[in-house]
Amino acid sequence: MDGRVVIIGAGQAAVSCIAALRSADATRPIVLVGDEEHLPYRRPPLSKSCLAEEISIENLLIRPASWYDGVDLRLGAGVEEISRREGRLVLRNGEQLAYDQLVLCLGSRARPLGREAGGDLAGVHTLRSLTDAARLQAEFRPGRRLLVVGGGYLGLEVAAAARSRGLSVLLLEAGARILGRVASATTAEHFRTMHAARGVEIREATGLDALSGAERVQRAILSDGSEHEVDLVVIGIGGLANAELAAHASLETANGIVVDAGCRTADPNILAAGDCASFPLGGRTVRLESVQNASDQGEIAASNLSGGQRAYAPVPWFWSDQYDTKLQIVGIGHDHDSIVVRPGQRGDAKSIWYFRGEELLAVDAINDPSSYMIGRRLLAAGVSPARRDVANADLPLSAMLPPRG
Ligand SMILES: Cc1cc2nc3c(=O)[nH]c(=O)nc-3n(C[C@H](O)[C@H](O)[C@H](O)COP(=O)(O)OP(=O)(O)OC[C@H]3O[C@@H](n4cnc5c(N)ncnc54)[C@H](O)[C@@H]3O)c2cc1C
Repeated sequence: MDGRVVIIGAGQAAVSCIAALRSADATRPIVLVGDEEHLPYRRPPLSKSCLAEEISIENLLIRPASWYDGVDLRLGAGVEEISRREGRLVLRNGEQLAYDQLVLCLGSRARPLGREAGGDLAGVHTLRSLTDAARLQAEFRPGRRLLVVGGGYLGLEVAAAARSRGLSVLLLEAGARILGRVASATTAEHFRTMHAARGVEIREATGLDALSGAERVQRAILSDGSEHEVDLVVIGIGGLANAELAAHASLETANGIVVDAGCRTADPNILAAGDCASFPLGGRTVRLESVQNASDQGEIAASNLSGGQRAYAPVPWFWSDQYDTKLQIVGIGHDHDSIVVRPGQRGDAKSIWYFRGEELLAVDAINDPSSYMIGRRLLAAGVSPARRDVANADLPLSAMLPPRG
């Protein structure tokens, strides 16, 4: 059925969905409804360059304004309800909007710190949107004491940006170590050492009990009983899928909107893509928060909306920039039982290869783009190199690639 497509959520997944819909049928009516005032923009710089430099929305836009010609843009308009029976949306301003098909690109939001723990005090930030980044940037003044809660990529990136602006930084990780959910102990060790050398104090296996202050945050009480004076706090304790709209419309949700490998919900006229979607991958149901995943799923959703049968079977990739270090990750290393560390060409470069048995699962490349590229090609081809070959830095990685074509 090729009617009016309404996309809810004006972000990364929406843009690739629009691009793919247009290339399939340039005349198809498309409506884009987004609750932020801005055209879709890139979020990765928000925890990196945007905290260190002036923020310019023009530099962040995924596509310039003219690219949306012909798309019915409804920005600054949140959708409050989906009425599937009537094929209708209710916007926050009361307006109603009919759809033939719907793509949910709702993204995710930052998990907040509860009110009872002081999460509503002034000076306590989460970081998800351009508005959040601008607010935080205005608070970054040399000499101020920043507490970062959470030792995932976001927390570490904020810590790096804050150090470059001359703040003092204490970072807490409640788990046994930083990057516990997303990277090996070896990768974590690299980043711990790097941050320590730049003056970030990292406390692992230490949670935040509470923040206190009159109106603005002044003090943090940690789970080890210690108390610290703080000027501002960033909470980086993970994201929550924006799935409530779907749940209220009786679509299945479980850590996100449940979709099949083709981004379809159980309703044939509703698909979901990006951070908000939980989908099958490698025998599990996963939800990925990455630009690659949002872009790819947006495209798959568009193609299946127009009657395609594409299944999504990605080799996921992700990156993180901290100080002058670039980490590039390909694959998912969760179930690994061994790792191999390979020194890179430059002194500060290396790659960490994750294996389960003889199978290559993932590669973390630190300042080592060629290892990342080769790891990506190996994983895409389903080829696992021998561990001893990976460990042998004298053996070029390119020798492990299958012949092209
Ligand atoms: C600070 C930060 C740093 C990041 N760094 C990296 C990185 O280095 N590498 C990487 O790969 N990924 C990174 N990510 C993740 C990446 O940005 C996301 O995975 C990606 O933006 C997801 O795209 P999306 O389209 O699913 O959601 P989004 O781009 O978040 O767009 C969703 C939009 O939907 C809107 N919306 C939600 N509900 C409604 C509603 N009811 N009505 C209307 N609109 C609604 C939201 O407000 C939002 O504007 C980062 C994310 C953040 C926040």
